[in-house]
Amino acid sequence: MQQIKKPHPAMPDSLSDFALGKLASLEAKNQRRTLVDTARSMAMALSVDGGAPLISFTDNDYLGLSTHPDVIDAAKAAADQFGAGAGASRLVTGNHPLYRKLEQKIAALKGTEDAAVFGSGYLANVGIIPTLVGKEDLIIADELVHTCIHAGVQLSRATVKFFRHNDVGHAAELLAEHRAAHGRCLMVVDGVYSMDGDIAPLKELGLLAQNHDAWLLADDAHALGTIGGGRGSMHATGAEGLVPLQMGTLSKAVGSYGGYLAASKPVIDLIKTRARSFIYTTGLPPAAVGASLKALELIENDQEKVARPVKLARTFAAALGLPAPDTPIVPLVIGTEADALGASDALATEGFKVIAFRPPTVPEGTSRLRFSFSASHRDADVDRLIAVCKKLGLGD
Ligand code: PMP
Repeated sequence: MQQIKKPHPAMPDSLSDFALGKLASLEAKNQRRTLVDTARSMAMALSVDGGAPLISFTDNDYLGLSTHPDVIDAAKAAADQFGAGAGASRLVTGNHPLYRKLEQKIAALKGTEDAAVFGSGYLANVGIIPTLVGKEDLIIADELVHTCIHAGVQLSRATVKFFRHNDVGHAAELLAEHRAAHGRCLMVVDGVYSMDGDIAPLKELGLLAQNHDAWLLADDAHALGTIGGGRGSMHATGAEGLVPLQMGTLSKAVGSYGGYLAASKPVIDLIKTRARSFIYTTGLPPAAVGASLKALELIENDQEKVARPVKLARTFAAALGLPAPDTPIVPLVIGTEADALGASDALATEGFKVIAFRPPTVPEGTSRLRFSFSASHRDADVDRLIAVCKKLGLGD
C-alpha cells in the first residue's frame, strides 16, 4: 500500500509571502476574519469552539427551521429516497423529482408562474444577471446591494450606475440620464438590507422601472419567511405586479440551502437554458431540497411563527431606544472595528453571540453589531439580552 506523505512545511515563496503580507495588513486594521467551530441546537443555543453555549442573536435562521424536527425528518427522508448527492448537474441527471415540487411551491408562495432553484443565492445572482443583460445594456442598482449582485453585475459587463441607498429620486435621475443610450435595463435592489434591516421602496421603484422599460429584480434573501406574511418584500410593500424578478435564498428563514428565482414562465425557461451557474454546477443534495419543501410548508401554515421575529426585534429596539424595525434585523452602529469587536466580546462574556460586522461588509467607520431575531428565541432570552445591553451601555 502506498504511504500517504506528510504535507511539506510552508516553503518560503512569493505566493506565501504575498498571503502573509496581505493577512498582516488586514490584521493591523482589525479586518482579518477567522473561522470558529460552531454547533447549533434548539432555541438558538450555539456552542463556539466547544465552549459553553451562547444564545445566538446573529444567525439568519429567522424561524429556527434549520433545527425543526419536521424539517430534519424531511431531509432524512429525501436522502433515504434519492441519495446523499445529486450525482450531476440538473440538466444532466441531477434533477431528482423533489426539485420540481420545490419550484412549484416557491412559485405559488411568490405568486409567479414559475421558479428556478439554484445551488445558492449567490449562484442565483451571478447566473440571473448576466443572462438578462449584457455589454450594450444598463444596470441601475442600490449602492448597498449584496456583494453577489456586484459579482453578477461584473460578469454581465453591462454599464452600471449606483443610486444612493433607497433614494428613488436619485434612481430616477440616473434613468433619465442614462436609459436612452442602452438596450435592456435591469434595476437591482435587496428587498431587505441585511446590514441595516430596512426594506426597499419597491412600489415606487417598480413604477419607476415600468416608466423606463426597466426590469426590477429584488433580492429577498432576508425577506422570504420574515415579512409580507412570509411571502417576502413584494407582498410586504404592496408592490404586487411591479417586481417581475424575485430572487432569494433557501438558507436563511427556510433553514436549508439553495437559491431561487421566481418569475414568469418564459423568463424561467430562459434562465434554465442559459444561466451558467444553473447549468454548469451539480444539483443540490436531495436532503437540502426536501428540507426546503417542508420548511416552506411550515411558513405557509404558521403565520404566528412568521410574525414572531419582527415582534421580538421591535421589543428589543423599543427597550434600547432604537428606531422600530420592520424586519428581524436591528443594527447598532458602533464605529471603529476595535470598538465593535470589543462590544461583541463583552456580549459573549454575558452569554450572547452577536457578530461585529466590519469593512468591507459595511462602510468604513460604521462597524456594527447586527442583532437578528428568530422565532426560536424565547421571550426570556430577549429580556436578558435587553438587560445586558443596558448594563453594557449599548443603545440609547
Ligand atoms: N443576497 C443577500 C442579500 C444575502 O444576504 C445573501 C447571503 N448572505 C445572499 C444573497 C447569498 O445567499 P446564499 O447564502 O444562499 O448564497
